[in-house]
Amino acid sequence: DYGPAPESDKDARAWLASHEASFGHFIAGRFTQPKADLDDIDPASGKLLAHLSQGSAADVDAAVQAAQAALPGWQALGGHGRARHLYALARTVQRHARLLAVLETLDNGKPLRESRDVDVPLVARHFYHYAGWAQLQESEFPDHVPVGVVGQIVPWNFPLLMLAWKIAPALALGNTVVLKPAENTSLTALLFAELAQQAGLPAGVLNIVTGDGATGAAVVAHPGIQKIAFTGSTEVGRLIREQTAGSGKSLTLELGGKSPFIVFEDADIDAAIEGVVDAIWFNQGQVCCAGSRLLVQEGIHDLFIARLKTRMQKLKVGAPLDKCSDMGALISPVQLERVRSLVEQGVREGAQCHQVVLDTPPGGCFYPPTLLTGVHPAATVASEEIFGPVLVAMSFRTPDEAVQLANNSRYGLAASIWSETIGLALGVAPQLKAGVVWINSTNQFDAAVGFGGVRESGYGREGGREGCYEYLKPRRQQAGSLRQPS
Ligand code: NAD
Repeated sequence: DYGPAPESDKDARAWLASHEASFGHFIAGRFTQPKADLDDIDPASGKLLAHLSQGSAADVDAAVQAAQAALPGWQALGGHGRARHLYALARTVQRHARLLAVLETLDNGKPLRESRDVDVPLVARHFYHYAGWAQLQESEFPDHVPVGVVGQIVPWNFPLLMLAWKIAPALALGNTVVLKPAENTSLTALLFAELAQQAGLPAGVLNIVTGDGATGAAVVAHPGIQKIAFTGSTEVGRLIREQTAGSGKSLTLELGGKSPFIVFEDADIDAAIEGVVDAIWFNQGQVCCAGSRLLVQEGIHDLFIARLKTRMQKLKVGAPLDKCSDMGALISPVQLERVRSLVEQGVREGAQCHQVVLDTPPGGCFYPPTLLTGVHPAATVASEEIFGPVLVAMSFRTPDEAVQLANNSRYGLAASIWSETIGLALGVAPQLKAGVVWINSTNQFDAAVGFGGVRESGYGREGGREGCYEYLKPRRQQAGSLRQPS
């Protein structure tokens, strides 16, 4: 009762009101006429935030034409010229950090503490980082040229951060962009586009077309786009791969995961417990690399689970704008239902369910932190990505068994190892089939480090030098040759 007051949403609401809470697409530097055919809902209250427009093939075409028209001027700026724009974008994000964080929290339901302390700072950092690569482009990549017009499709779990991961490298290296945000979280992308325009980004360099999967499919299909970068579900990623096969478009896919969180007997238990909290309850577990499979060595299993249950009870689920909330709302009633039914299935398949009793505002998509113990490795909840605040726990005896269990997945995005014996951790790490492995830590992201998956978690890397190559092609390569997955 004596914690800080909830963050005010006055400025975010004023911005929505300045657009009469109805948005068109952002094409060639301005908003198109709103059509109000999609509702954007605040998942923590169920109330309408804004109306959005469903992008048609004609809207996508207009955006591609704007991106094509802007391309020669953008490339003529050279690396240094573009770096100035990327630095300006980074500073703009910092200057409007509070507004962006509050709007993100309203739109997505994530706690303000996260949008303010994690999402928005990482967004600024990504622009700063790629501003540096823009400056180095001519010296570091003399044999490469930009891909051209790129189509980018992002999900709803980190709306602004995924936008930054996509557009910062693309713009830095001389490409122009048509981006489609997720239909339930488009607001920060639209605000960002407006702020970018005010910060002097040339018209047509960044175009935002809102809409659902049909709009995304129109982006994928457009012949004027040379590359598709997609983050989202494995199912849609597979579809996009089929659709782009033979089209000459290059492709990067950042897809789902079911990442193992492995705790050895000699781990620092307090640190590992906090690691679990971060791995599965950050962003309500709606994190592609969430440590959603807890594997604990037999000797400490019961103790660890008991300690975890106690720690879980201290998590505060509540209004996302309340600065004391550890967890906010799930993204939508559809997602809430999906999580609920998967947990029920887990229980039907023999798991014991431990949950925190909720005391949350009415009308919101709140779901409690959940721990499923006694999960059989063959159970649905042990293999299916739940994409919610649900941790499944299993035990193992030996390091070999841990590796075997960890790799028993169709995914391969991330993994986390907890042990005070560095030789053991370093021995296990390379045996894990995962794009990123953290030791005694989890969910660490850095703009300078390539992030991405193996197996059904996708291919391609975002971040750092590796991320640059995703938006470049060899100077001599024939336009349109197809990049094969690694
Ligand atoms: P989704 O695949 O349903 O949607 C992602 C985006 O694709 C949205 O913008 C959506 O409108 C669009 N889309 C849907 N159908 C399309 C189609 N046929 N063609 C083109 N675009 C289409 O995924 P989601 O439910 O929004 O996001 C959750 C999923 O994303 C999870 O599986 C999660 O693991 C994954 N994810 C992965 C990463 C990563 O970096 N690997 C990051 C975040 C989320």
